Amino acid sequence: MIHSNKSIIRGEKMAENKKKKRVAIVRCERTEESCPGTSCLTSFAGRKHSFKDYDENAELVGFFSCGGCPGRRIFRLVRSLKEEGGVDVIHVASCILKETPFPKCTHKGDIINSIKNMGIDVVLGSDDKWEKEVKIMKEKKHLKDPESQDTLLEGSDHW
Ligand code: SF4
Repeated sequence: MIHSNKSIIRGEKMAENKKKKRVAIVRCERTEESCPGTSCLTSFAGRKHSFKDYDENAELVGFFSCGGCPGRRIFRLVRSLKEEGGVDVIHVASCILKETPFPKCTHKGDIINSIKNMGIDVVLGSDDKWEKEVKIMKEKKHLKDPESQDTLLEGSDHW
């Protein structure tokens, strides 16, 4: 069978799109007034910190807040992301995870579990702040398994 150049190009494009990771970031609504999101967005753009393993095809498809305590818009916004082109992984921003200088979030375990329950992968952290926090926890031996963030995802070690 003879393919036109056009259909071959389209086929390549489809294969490329198939591999493309669709990434979103969820942040704390309470920090929105003081944070324009620069650190998260430039970290993704530069593939730094928790974004360092993505290739250049990865696409940021969402940057949204939890909707206020107790994460009241998580379900609705993740559902919208899934409906509007899909999302593969959601990064939980440092402002949700860290307890200083941000307001302590007592709902982060629930936020993480809600996202996971909707079938989306979760990665902790969005910029250097969480990276530094994990380093300190490792040094202080506050992590049961320093090589894995699984215990953090379960919410058992940090909150
Ligand atoms: S639920 Fe947590 S992340 Fe959301 S506004 Fe409240 S403190 Fe911030």
